[in-house]
Amino acid sequence: MALMPCDTGQHRYAGPSRAAYPALVHGADSERRHLRLCQAHFLAYLDSVSPRLEQLAQEGQQSLTIDPVVCLVCGRSPQGTVQVFLTAYPYRDVREDYWGQVCDEHYGDARTLLKLAP
Ligand SMILES: [Zn+2]
Ligand SMILES: [Zn+2]
Repeated sequence: MALMPCDTGQHRYAGPSRAAYPALVHGADSERRHLRLCQAHFLAYLDSVSPRLEQLAQEGQQSLTIDPVVCLVCGRSPQGTVQVFLTAYPYRDVREDYWGQVCDEHYGDARTLLKLAP
């Protein structure tokens, strides 16, 4: 039973919480957040961002690369130096790491999409 509300909608829920750690890195600046989500909102969150991110290999796996890399927000070739890092835990012992890029001008939209802004 989760003891904290879901970070999408602040509602209560039964069952274990899922964790996601999104980060935006721009030069020396970075923003990160720990999201606690119910199962449904966790899946919706991953669905909304993972298609435009590269899934990095865990031990003994191949990376699922996207070639060429596209901006998380506009889907075009990224213009700038903003990087996205996302670690997600779909299950307690299963970790997924994602990486991607965002245009400088789409930083604000990426913040919203990644739920870095509470
Ligand atoms: Zn939820
Ligand atoms: Zn863009």
